[in-house]
Amino acid sequence: MENTKTQVSQTQNTAVKTKVAVAYGDGIGPEIMKATLKILEASGANIEPEVIEVGEKVYLSGNSAGIEKKSWEVINQNKIILKAPITTPQGKGYKSLNVTLRKSLGLFANVRPVTALSPYIHTNFPNMDVVIIRENEEDLYAGIEHQQTQDVVQCLKLITRPGCEKIVRYAFEYAKLYGRKKVTCMVKDNIMKLTDGLFHNVFKEIAAEYPEITSESQIIDIGSARLAANPENYDVVVTSNLYGDIVSDIVAEIAGSVGMAGSANVGKNIAMFEAIHGSAPDIAGKAIANPSGLINAAVMMLVHVGKVNIANSIKNALLTTIEQGYHTADIYKERQSVQKVSTSEFADKIIENLGNQPVKLPVSTIDENAGRISIPEYIRAQKEQVLVGTDVFINWQGVNPQEIGDALAALQSYKLKLKMITNRGVKVYPNGMPETYCTDHWRCRFVAINATINGEQPKYMPVDFEQILALLSNINHLGFEVIKTENLYEFDGKRGFSLGQGE
Ligand code: NAD
Repeated sequence: MENTKTQVSQTQNTAVKTKVAVAYGDGIGPEIMKATLKILEASGANIEPEVIEVGEKVYLSGNSAGIEKKSWEVINQNKIILKAPITTPQGKGYKSLNVTLRKSLGLFANVRPVTALSPYIHTNFPNMDVVIIRENEEDLYAGIEHQQTQDVVQCLKLITRPGCEKIVRYAFEYAKLYGRKKVTCMVKDNIMKLTDGLFHNVFKEIAAEYPEITSESQIIDIGSARLAANPENYDVVVTSNLYGDIVSDIVAEIAGSVGMAGSANVGKNIAMFEAIHGSAPDIAGKAIANPSGLINAAVMMLVHVGKVNIANSIKNALLTTIEQGYHTADIYKERQSVQKVSTSEFADKIIENLGNQPVKLPVSTIDENAGRISIPEYIRAQKEQVLVGTDVFINWQGVNPQEIGDALAALQSYKLKLKMITNRGVKVYPNGMPETYCTDHWRCRFVAINATINGEQPKYMPVDFEQILALLSNINHLGFEVIKTENLYEFDGKRGFSLGQGE
């Protein structure tokens, strides 16, 4: 196979040394990191690695966060992290280092480009070329969980307007910079009207500012099914944290090998680059791991620091090596591959190919202006926030909703009156269905509603917090255990809480 040699321009800031916090990780981490750093060195990227200790060894030394204090200092100085996968020991309350890094450093955008390299790497979708942009800091990953009763545990799903604005704008700016044509939003706002509804509304608002980019929205269940069945129909997908976690793994898997994809975790000032796969303990120490995921992450890192020509050069050398048929075990195929190579042999082939371009696979031509995407500061629009009631959650072991309902309905607390009781979100009082299964966790909604005047819909009336405190005291005196409350607000006259199913 013939390759065309191109001259790598050194006009970009390759003269500037870029200090990078480097984590060798666990399992196959050290093998793939060594290979990646060797390529970076040979490419003239002028990267100065500063090693940080994170991962299994640190966990097992008794540090439940998995990262030493000194490593935080190195990260804060260098602002760029290149990280190999780490192993989180099971059990004993070890915190996921990845989640800690993403949230503590404000790395709000997780960017995972996945491109098929067919026919060199087998996939059923030879034309797929999709980027998953996943919100990285909030959603169910806020990690706020409580056991509230014998039967019930809860996890808070936190979705914020600034979080949605940042990630959605990032997705459109990314599409613009990388010449992508379409951004698809995936949510579940037919069920979660406030949380996923906020994500979707922000998507619609921001999409209108980018008329040159097609925008569409899909419900996550059918969206991920279609993504798995026809990934070639997608370009950029933007979604919240948990959905993004799931769909990005689906996409990487169907492209051929989990060992190929890299990712960027981008914040305002700090960014972290890593492979999407884990530490692969089953093949650690065997010198067979595919370093491409981490190499692709390093390419994204070079783009981020403005060394775009070097990024293109390494990417093209990687594509050329794959095209030439030098394959690690995970992508090796009889007759299709030329030689099965070890991790370090694969890296050496890439180094030999620096300056070469692939013949059949698309040449990497990331634009010089790619790099950092800056997102405007969030400006909070002030709204009138009016307290109109409270949901009181009660731990009650009884089985008959009528009993708790009649007891609470008899309470007189200023204007606040019992409107309904739900169990797991389904209305059971008044007029529930006898078939509804009830746990020991009762949500009792108290609101102040005015009388119907001239056939108009009754409206919520403002209440003050003292009235809610008095209500809680009365409920307590009745002998019910209040486990938590949620205030009910209207914002500029719009209801800021969902209705119960059947309310
Ligand atoms: P994994 O991604 O490590 O491995 C899944 C399968 O893919 C294994 O068969 C493995 O051999 C193979 N594989 C993965 N990367 C490969 C590569 N580069 N070359 C060839 N084959 C490769 O997932 P897992 O087994 O679920 O997790 C192992 C450990 O990794 C766990 O401790 C998990 O917590 C950790 N993990 C870390 C990160 C991270 O640090 N970013 C991400 C995911 C999982």
